Amino acid sequence: MMRDNSALKTPVRYFKGVGPKRGELLSKLGIETAEDILYYLPLRYEDRSNLTAIKDLRAGEHQTVEGEVITCSSRIAKSGMRFFQVAVTDGTGFVHATWFNQPYLKDYFKKGQRVILYGKIELHDKLQITQPEYEIVESEDTDSIHIGRIVPIYSAADGLAQRYLRGLADTAVAKYSKFLVERLPTYILAREKLVDSRFAVRNIHFPTTFENLEKAYRRIVFEEFFVLQLALAMKKRGAKRDEKGLGHNVSGELIDSFRKSLPFELTDGQKKAMADISRDMSSTKPMNRLLEGDVGSGKTVVAAYGLVLTVQNGFQGVIMAPTEVLARQHFIGLSELLMPLGINISLLIGGMKQEQKREAAEEIRSGKVDIVVGTHSVIQESVQFKKMGLAVVDEQHKFGVTQRAILKEKGYNPHILVMTATPIPRTLALTVYGDLDVSIIRELPKGRKPIQTYWVEEARRDEAYDFVKEEIGKGRQAYIVCPSIDGQIQNPKSKIQNKFQFANSNSKAGSAEGIFNDLKSGVFADYKIGMLHGRMPSSEKEKVMKDFKNRKIDVLVSTVVIEVGIDVPNATVMMIENAERFGLAQLHQLRGRVGRGEHESFCILLANPKTEGAAKRIGAIEDTLDGFQIAEEDLNIRGPGEFFGTRQHGLPEIKFGNILKDFAIMERARHEAFDLVRRDPDLSEEHHRLLKETLAERFKGKICES
Ligand code: ADP
Ligand code: MG
Repeated sequence: MMRDNSALKTPVRYFKGVGPKRGELLSKLGIETAEDILYYLPLRYEDRSNLTAIKDLRAGEHQTVEGEVITCSSRIAKSGMRFFQVAVTDGTGFVHATWFNQPYLKDYFKKGQRVILYGKIELHDKLQITQPEYEIVESEDTDSIHIGRIVPIYSAADGLAQRYLRGLADTAVAKYSKFLVERLPTYILAREKLVDSRFAVRNIHFPTTFENLEKAYRRIVFEEFFVLQLALAMKKRGAKRDEKGLGHNVSGELIDSFRKSLPFELTDGQKKAMADISRDMSSTKPMNRLLEGDVGSGKTVVAAYGLVLTVQNGFQGVIMAPTEVLARQHFIGLSELLMPLGINISLLIGGMKQEQKREAAEEIRSGKVDIVVGTHSVIQESVQFKKMGLAVVDEQHKFGVTQRAILKEKGYNPHILVMTATPIPRTLALTVYGDLDVSIIRELPKGRKPIQTYWVEEARRDEAYDFVKEEIGKGRQAYIVCPSIDGQIQNPKSKIQNKFQFANSNSKAGSAEGIFNDLKSGVFADYKIGMLHGRMPSSEKEKVMKDFKNRKIDVLVSTVVIEVGIDVPNATVMMIENAERFGLAQLHQLRGRVGRGEHESFCILLANPKTEGAAKRIGAIEDTLDGFQIAEEDLNIRGPGEFFGTRQHGLPEIKFGNILKDFAIMERARHEAFDLVRRDPDLSEEHHRLLKETLAERFKGKICES
């Protein structure tokens, strides 16, 4: 077998027909070498082995026809638009193709030529195809790559015809596919019933049957996912092997009294998560665990359990939350729960006075404080722990990978627990957090009533307000959430963009300040109404939250600062202004602020969606309460990149596969990868050597840092 695969790196400009101009166009498509062509996968395929006869064309469908050009004509409309039209026949009927503003086509098509057209068939007074894809059939094409078979269609660029790309692919396959090496060990090919890499590459471009095409695709995607999972498996193993963790004693008086002091019975999911944490924290390897659970599933108490464990063992614990409001709430909640047990808790957030912060930092350094609750302030350089045993990151998806890493560095191989209320579909969890162990809380605490969700149009706003008043009459409270503070779109990261949006928006519709002022002097004049947004001074925020919690406020008008974590069980109405402006996951999070107590709760979505997508989102929220399902839907609508700002969350780029559709392949790949690393942890066996090289090349040292 040829070992030398440097031929694969042959630059495309050595290919026939690739001059400087086309070379540049190819380079824009990411094609530089023979290998790049081989892995430039077709977008779709056309079955030209079995073309549709013109008489059998069906309006509304995308179909391919082949026939002879019988007329060509151009005309210019009054508007200046240029039309070019050809009529084509295959002996069974006629079809007319029209293109706009492509005058050069008149030099391309000639009467008597054979052509292939692909597009959506329309039937007006005659059969038509508008702006079809087209290809001239050369006389020598019988038995060629362009016709009479399943033909690949590539994502092209202007100036690169399908025929041309297909020709390149054909040359690459014929001359270079033989240099492809097989990275996957034979036993995996056999076990997973995968075709070899050469067969796969040949058939992904020029499949002999659709069945072979499927085999080829499955093989290529498997390898992509497998390499990724292998990297994750190595990373996970590296973290486990290299670090000596703090083996905690998980039984003791403190943890017993904690359990006894809980005001409710734990759900099965919570018990299971606590058992997972006990197991991890008693091990001499550091815990690295993700706790996933829908909004309101009770993750905080699970974190508290871990924190108490570490305190019992003479270490300090820290919990980091993404907003001050949430950090304060945790501080209050944990104080109530843990102070009676003699545990010292301290708050550390940016909004505190300099003096207070210094004091807190000093107490953390001296070890006087057992548990620190804070925002990203806790990862500042000035903050040093005496002995950190457990770091908890709440609402992990709001933080970047680096912040988690810095927090971890504050201790010596501390245990790590990250929590997220954005239920990550399993599909994504496997790719993004593949190096973490995962505990999932599936159920909500007993006795919760499902939240009733209603989509209300602007015209019925007053009815919605009446409903809020009714609930207040029963002693309940309400949130009214607005997309912005004062008409500007909230996004602290892009101040410049804000300015533009401000300049463009002439209304204060949907602004918290505007609505607060209107309601205060109008509809809710006789009620206690408060406002909360991120730009208020810290002390004011604190006061408002406290007042809301203590029922001194009936209606809280707020921005999305209350999106994460806020827990006021007596609040039963969540009214969302301009709901169409929020994303799916965000709407679900907001809704999760109610339905936390024994009372029936409601979510009112005020929305006049202008696009189909927006209407779909609102409908999806109305239809389901299951956060996992919503996340899956969100992922479908937005795609993985946007769902989780790709870079920030370290989601690797996936080129070939689709992590939603090809989930079954991902699972197999994961299974095999983790199995392999278990058996050959250093990939030192000969048949794993190429995989090891591939990892080294692709992940350049990223595997062993964690
Ligand atoms: P999340 O998972 O969204 O962070 P929280 O930890 O804020 O949820 O818990 C939501 C609410 O449920 C809190 O008021 C908490 O005290 C309460 N809670 C947690 N666990 C239980 C339980 N097992 N039974 C009843 N209430 C619970
Ligand atoms: Mg929470």
